[in-house]
Amino acid sequence: MRVLLLEDDRELCRTLRDALTMEGYAVLTAASLAEANALLAHAREPLDLVLLDLGLPDGDGEQLLATLRRRESLPVLVLSARQAEGQKIRLLDAGADDYLVKPFGVAELLARMRVALRRRGTRVSAALTDYRRAAVHIDLHAQRVWRDGAPVHLTPTEFALLARLVRQAGQVVTHRQLLRDVWGAEFTEHTHYLRLYMGQLRAKLEDEPAEPRLLLTEPGVGYRLAEPDEDPGPLMPS
Ligand code: CA
Repeated sequence: MRVLLLEDDRELCRTLRDALTMEGYAVLTAASLAEANALLAHAREPLDLVLLDLGLPDGDGEQLLATLRRRESLPVLVLSARQAEGQKIRLLDAGADDYLVKPFGVAELLARMRVALRRRGTRVSAALTDYRRAAVHIDLHAQRVWRDGAPVHLTPTEFALLARLVRQAGQVVTHRQLLRDVWGAEFTEHTHYLRLYMGQLRAKLEDEPAEPRLLLTEPGVGYRLAEPDEDPGPLMPS
C-alpha cells in the first residue's frame, strides 16, 4: 500500500511517516502543494491513498483534491485543524473520503485508512450491503433491519437514511450529502429533517438513544455510522 502524506508540520509528518511505515505502508511525503504535484507527476507506481493537510505554505489542500479527482479515484483523508470546519465540509462534499481533526491518535488514523481503502475496493471489491454491529443487522438487499434478532419496522424515509449511511459505514457523511441523497437536491438546507429522523432511528436501534454508539454525530459536519464488526459471527434469524 502506497500512501502520499501531504503535511507541512515536520514533526507531525515524521511521526506519521514512521507509524505508517511500521504498519507496512510505503509512505511518500510532501510538505507543499508544489512537492505533492511533482510527486504525483513522477510517481512510477500508483498510489493507494492520500493524507491531505489543509493549511500548506503555498496554498490549501483543497486545490490538490480537484487535481486528484480529475486524475483518478483515490481515497483522500483530510487532516484538519478544528477551526477549518467550513473547508472540511466543502472537501467532503467535493469527494474527500473522511477527515481527522488534529490532534488525532495513530490508531484512529489507521482505522480510518482501513475504512477508506475498503470502501474504494482496494481490499474488498463488493460494496457493503449487509451491515452488522453488536445486536443490529441491516440487510440492504432485503430492505430489512433486525435488532437482537427481532425485526425493526422503519418508515421508507428512515430506511433510506440508514441505507445511505450503511453504504459509507465507518465514514462521515455530511448533512448536505444526506439531505441531497435521501430527500433531494432542493432540501440540502433542511438540516432539521436530519435531527428528526436520526432521533427516530436512534430510538429504534440504539440501547441508549441519548448516548448513541451506532449512529454517531459529527458536530457541525454530519453523521457517521459506526464501523461494522470485523467478524459478523453466526447469522441472526431472519
Ligand atoms: Ca499545515
